[in-house]
Amino acid sequence: MKRKYYFGFLLFLYSLPNLYARLGGGGGRSSRSSSRSSGSSWSSSGHSYSSHSSGGGGSSSISPVVIIIFIVICIVVYFYLKKKFPSMFGNTLTDNNQNFVDEYTDVPLPDGLDKKKLTFAFREMQKAWQNKDLKNVRKWMSDGMYQRLHTQISIMNTLSQRNELSNLRIENIRVADLRKDNGYDVTDIEFIFSVRDKFISEIYPKFNEDYDEENIVEYWTLIRKQNVESKDLYTSNNCPNCGDVLSDDLGEISRCSSCGTLVNNAAYDWILCEITQEDDYEGEQDVLLDQNFLSLFTHDKEFAVQKMEDIASNIFMQIMEVFSGGKIDKLDKFSDENTLSQLISIKNSYNGIIFNRLYTNFVTLDDYSVEGNIIDLKFKISATYSEVKLANNTIQKVNELETQEFYMTLSRNKDAVLPLEISYSHECPNCAAPYDDTTLDKCSYCGSPFVDKSKNWVLTHFE
Ligand SMILES: [Zn+2]
Ligand SMILES: [Zn+2]
Repeated sequence: MKRKYYFGFLLFLYSLPNLYARLGGGGGRSSRSSSRSSGSSWSSSGHSYSSHSSGGGGSSSISPVVIIIFIVICIVVYFYLKKKFPSMFGNTLTDNNQNFVDEYTDVPLPDGLDKKKLTFAFREMQKAWQNKDLKNVRKWMSDGMYQRLHTQISIMNTLSQRNELSNLRIENIRVADLRKDNGYDVTDIEFIFSVRDKFISEIYPKFNEDYDEENIVEYWTLIRKQNVESKDLYTSNNCPNCGDVLSDDLGEISRCSSCGTLVNNAAYDWILCEITQEDDYEGEQDVLLDQNFLSLFTHDKEFAVQKMEDIASNIFMQIMEVFSGGKIDKLDKFSDENTLSQLISIKNSYNGIIFNRLYTNFVTLDDYSVEGNIIDLKFKISATYSEVKLANNTIQKVNELETQEFYMTLSRNKDAVLPLEISYSHECPNCAAPYDDTTLDKCSYCGSPFVDKSKNWVLTHFE
């Protein structure tokens, strides 16, 4: 019976790509006890999604050979997983996850967070997302989180799409994980909520979706520097450093215009850096238990795995934006030469493709290595999107919504420490001057090269 369940799970995964457009890159396959109003079930929406491919109507029928190959793959995967993770088969996957979370049932919310603040933040995010205006939430959001939402919004604008959310009800908020990450505290907060979710495109209504979802489970990852007192970035609109009123136009760089501090700073309050759907959520990172790894960063109090994943997520979104029509000169602010020319050739191969409904499911530090003086951090990224093309005021679908994995490596000298806090890929690592629209490879203020492993992380591999 368990085995049957698991096959069902795999089939479900394969046959129904993530369709849900939840904030920050939803992608929930299904929720623990999700129920949908009739007419907008997974299968019907999945069907409508996949049956309107432009030009290739009949291409979605699956041949028996493919089904047989698929079943063989399922059997192999099943036995592999059973051998590798026997504990997983004592429960269903969801139950397993549940047991893990239950360790934290009685753990109170960490200092500086309470239900009122989290409820406020959650509602503000939903509002910002559906209004496609991040100004009210920017100050307590990491740069990677901002880049992610910003890129999604700009793609939605290109395709005249919007995401209307209504009837939001938060059922529960609790701690799912608490961990130390070098000089930082990191927590995952579990939200269980219900929402009516309508995804609307005026110029291509065939993309439209309408869900009424209950008991959606989502994890928010927040980070704060250890042993600081929160200054409340959430309900106050004043700079946490100088007290001046913050301007509305904090964008990629969230510096206070009066004192120049980076406002979205984990030294001031809990900063939201990731939103993960239940199916992609794994909790604590193994690398944080690896003493050899941690010893590499004892000299760098600004280092945190969570912050690195944020940088990786930021870079990934910028790359995807460049692939789907953005300007190349973003990339030379963080890529080494080889990677840059490789990225440019990938961009050329995309030729006019736009990534519809692009969202990352997770960005995780998967592995690391040290060679000579260089530390390589290897990230695994899972992203879901479909490829479309704009032509004559219509959208042509090039392929279906699919989940893809990407790998990137960020490298830095072992003994490197950033001289000051900067907004990664937007400010000079030496003097923090913002990058102007320059094609130079050096800062126009201090003359330091943008890409320099002795100061900051450099993208050295992407696939
Ligand atoms: Zn200030
Ligand atoms: Zn500079």
